[in-house]
Amino acid sequence: MSIFTKIIEGEIPSYKVAEDDNFFAFLDINPNAKGHTLVVPKKEENKIFDLSKEEYTSLMNFSYRVAKALEKSVPCLRIGMSVIGLEVPHVHVHLIPTNAMADMQFTKKEKLTNEEFVALAESISSNFS
Ligand code: AMP
Repeated sequence: MSIFTKIIEGEIPSYKVAEDDNFFAFLDINPNAKGHTLVVPKKEENKIFDLSKEEYTSLMNFSYRVAKALEKSVPCLRIGMSVIGLEVPHVHVHLIPTNAMADMQFTKKEKLTNEEFVALAESISSNFS
């Protein structure tokens, strides 16, 4: 069972921002930038292009909705999107409020307090539709 499946099942806590029957979105615990969010299919698949076309399209549609909420909650130049998966072998889309290339480089990290994570998750969640 992946760490993200444990998060989805509530075994490990997370700062949830959105959920439906097939997808779960929560704040990255070691964010590149404030509001860095991960969108994960509940079905545990390792690599994004091993999803069916339908699953892939649904993941992108759900990510679109999360990105729209993120844009409302976190002022930024644009939402960057990235899929890597070298650390956690369970498909996840990184949505990152971006103001500079460095925000997309996974080397510059932001430290947030628990209260900041909670407030961000609540704000993004309230803008999700
Ligand atoms: P990657 O697999 O390289 O795309 O990166 C995995 C991402 O998952 C990293 O950005 C981590 O900070 C993030 N991550 C790992 N464990 C957790 C967790 N328990 N809660 C939130 N984010 C996590």
